[in-house]
This record gives sequence, structure tokens and C-alpha cells, in this order.
Amino acid sequence: MSLRTLIALAVVVVQAVGAPILPTSVREAADGITADQLARDLAFIASDELRGRATPSPGFDRAAAYIVNRLKAAGVTPAGDNGTYLQTYTMIESRVDLAASHIEIGGKRFALDADFVLRSFSGQPLTGTWPVVYVGHGWVIPDKGIDPYAGVDVRGKVVLTHGPRAMPKGVVIEQFGRVTVGASNVVAEAPRRGAVAVLMIPQTSTQPGWWQQLQRQNLVRRELDPSVPSAYAAAQVTSALLSPTGTEALMAGERFTTNEIVARGDAEDYPATFTLNKSVTFNVQASTVPHRPYNVVAKIEGRDSRLRNEHITVMAHLDGAVGTRSVEGDDIYNSADDNASGSAGMLSIVEQMMKSERPKRSMIFVWDSGEEVGLWGSRHFVANPPVPLSSVVAHINIDMIGATRAAESADEHSPAVPGPNEVYLIGPGVLSDKVNALIDQVNRGYLTMTLNRADDRWDSEFFYPRTDAGPFLERGILTIGWNTGLHRRYHQPSDDARFLDPKKIETVARTVFATLWAMAETNERPAIDKPIPVSVPRHR
Ligand SMILES: [Zn+2]
Repeated sequence: MSLRTLIALAVVVVQAVGAPILPTSVREAADGITADQLARDLAFIASDELRGRATPSPGFDRAAAYIVNRLKAAGVTPAGDNGTYLQTYTMIESRVDLAASHIEIGGKRFALDADFVLRSFSGQPLTGTWPVVYVGHGWVIPDKGIDPYAGVDVRGKVVLTHGPRAMPKGVVIEQFGRVTVGASNVVAEAPRRGAVAVLMIPQTSTQPGWWQQLQRQNLVRRELDPSVPSAYAAAQVTSALLSPTGTEALMAGERFTTNEIVARGDAEDYPATFTLNKSVTFNVQASTVPHRPYNVVAKIEGRDSRLRNEHITVMAHLDGAVGTRSVEGDDIYNSADDNASGSAGMLSIVEQMMKSERPKRSMIFVWDSGEEVGLWGSRHFVANPPVPLSSVVAHINIDMIGATRAAESADEHSPAVPGPNEVYLIGPGVLSDKVNALIDQVNRGYLTMTLNRADDRWDSEFFYPRTDAGPFLERGILTIGWNTGLHRRYHQPSDDARFLDPKKIETVARTVFATLWAMAETNERPAIDKPIPVSVPRHR
């Protein structure tokens, strides 16, 4: 054993027992993140004036300008478009013209909302007459040999299935939010096979009042243009669920009567694929308006001449989920915990990082937009990164870090909210033993937060796909999420700054700072060293 090996072993042993690995100056910079500053930033970003920062909105613009001014003052390098801090993208808002839209079956006209409702909307007008192919439940599950499209060409045709949620009989499909494992439903599969639209026959098992509940849905679609593949990409096809009257017209003179086909659907005893005798005419009219939302992007260069070409991205969505419903006289969805808390936390992290000795790797900080609508900012970023995506070694997501379950606090009775020195850490346990150990080690040597791993599981929606980390993980990048759990104020007008704990934001932000610094410093490239779960579809 060489002396060199001995020294290396000694370092490992010291680290394993929890000796601090942060240089004193770095630790001092982390300690410079204060609850007072965070409370001031939180108060502005979550103020009533900004009205929850919907994407796009004047309130979002003001929040972004606030961040940009601070980045300028701190001398942080812009990493948006053309030397600015802003990374702009196009979002198309499409609206169905309810009064002008109808379907024609057998020479009869059926009106939108009265005789059919939309289950998805492609964003494009849909006009034409096409043959109809019945595909039963419409699911494709290769491992089980289930493929109702086998042997038929549905290109340029309408596929007919049962709705709103037909399933293959006796098959359990694992679903995590919008993700299905090893299976794809008719709305995903039809456009992939070149079908122009989806029609659905209603199931009689639907609950009383079901039609009224489905009306007026999916008439507006907002989506990135061009779209970026992800679990949260908007539907690529228009699908229409027929009323019983519409179904009668469709099935008249066909192989099965309405009663027969509905009964077969209800029993999950689907007839084999067949082509109907009649064609169907769609006339779905829509108008579109383009918007130009943006992310705020900044960069801190690493100090090592080689490793500075590797990057860690850190993201906190600046937008909020702004609803339309007034609750107890409050109609402003301040979106304080979700996610003014993370936005303020990341701003302090950047400001203190500028005062710290730089780690070896570079860091890119993104206050993104459109997270609440469809992960737009995150999806746009991975498709249009300011540095090659292959140079991004890890992605850190900061989303909701302001809640604490403590006696006499707003979250005293919120079971999912962790205690004062506790935070959810999501991702490294599933993806990387080495980074997991590194984070533990840094934490033990610093604030010794309790790192709650309840959601650090492959089957947690907060691991995948419900956050901005999803588009990164879909592209094979190690993701690490920090979060303080769901509470009753989530996505409600009551998500106000006054219910949050600035001390918690301070503790989490300091811990993120320390672990980010360590990951950016370590000589070995942080990486996924475990299999990416099968629940994560891979996109390029
Ligand atoms: Zn959020």
C-alpha cells in the first residue's frame, strides 16, 4: 500500500464519521443566508400586488424584474438570450370556438357541449371527413401483447374507443400522475399511429351528472411551441366523447347496436377491431394567440479550468398556480410557499455564492415560468440549454421550502409537513449512492437537518413526474429535489407568506447551498449510478 493510498483512506474515514468538508469561508457564505432577507424577498414576491405571478402576467414580470435587478447588483453573469438574463419562448394559447364547432354523423349535425364533449384538444382546428376504426379500449401494452391497432392502418382515420376511461380487462396499469408504466392510452397512441382524431362511446358506469361535469373542459390549450416531449406535454390529438344520442347515430347500421357496444365496453369485453361503414365529419373551430413567456437564467462560473465546463443546474419556478375561485373572500393566489419560498431561497443562494470561494464546476440558476401549467420553462430549458445538456451533471430543484410543522404554527396539523429542522430530499436515494452519501456527509457536518426520504422513491409522484426535475430526468440527468411538503394551503388563495417560516427557508437554503457547493467541488463527476426507473420515459 502506497503512502498515497493511505492518505486517501484516511480522508475517506474522516469524511465517513462526519467531519465537515466545507472550507470555513464557504460555510461563512452559507451562513450569510438569513431569515430576515428571505422574509423581505418572500413578502414582495408573494405580495398581493403581484397576484400570484401567473405565466404570463404583469405580476410575473415584476417578480422577474426584482430578481434581475438583484442579479445585476450582485454581478452575476446573465445566461439567457443574447447576453440578457431572460430566456424567452413561445407559448400558443388555442381556444375552441364552442358555438362554431360540431360533428356530423349520418347526415345529422351534433353540437359541442350538447352532443359531445372534448377529452383532449390538439390546439388546431379539426375539419374533414374520415373513416372510423373501432379499437376497443385503445390501450397498447407491448409486454402483454395488447395492441388493438395491430394489422390495421389508422393513418388519416378516426379511432373509436370507449370513454372517458376504458381499461383492458384484468390488467393493472401502473400509473404515476400522467405516467403509465409500459402502457400507452388512446390519446397518446392515436397520434403516434397517424390517426386524425379520437371518438369515444360513453360508458354507462359513469356517475350521475357526469355529462355536466365534462362540459366546457379542454376548450383551451396552452402549450410550448414547438412542443418539447415530456410527461407534461399537452395532448397531440383532439378526442371527443359522444353523448348517448350521438352514439345512437354513430352505431346505426353498424355491426353492433348501441346497446351491444356499450354493454361490451362496460363489461370490458371489447369486440375485435373493425372499421365502421360510415365516415364522420369533424368541424372543430379554434383560434390561437401566441405569447412570449420567459425564464430568468444566470450563471456562476466554476474556478477549475477544466471542471468549469461541467454544470449543475438549479431551478425554482417563479410562477404560481393562479385559480379563479374566491375562497372565504380571498381571490388572490399569492403562491407564497409554491414557489415564492424557493425563488427567494435560490436568490439568496446565488448572492451568497457570489461572496464565496467558487467551487470547481459552474452553476446555472433558473427561475422558470409555466411550471404550474405544463413545466414549460423547464421543458424549454432542456431543449434550448445555454450550455450543452451533456455538460449538465446534476439538476437541483427547489420547490416549496417554507413550511414547518411546529406547535401553534399554521402547519401544526399538516401531517405531510416536516418539523423545524427537517426537509424532504428527493432523488439521490433512487439515482445515486455516491451523491446520496455526499449530501448526507455535508449535512452531517453542517446543519444536521433531518433529510426525510419518504418521497425519495421511484414510485413517488414527487420523484417523477410532478416537478420541474422531470424533463431533466427524462434526459438522463441526475435530479435532486428539496421540498417541505403539502399542506391545506397548496394551490389555494390562502398560500400566503404569513403562514410560512422564514427560518425554515433559511435552513433549507443554507443546506442546499452547502450540498450544491460540495457537488460542484468534488473531483469525481456527480452521476446517476443506479438504474433509472422504468417509470421514466426517456427523451432526447
Ligand atoms: Zn411548485
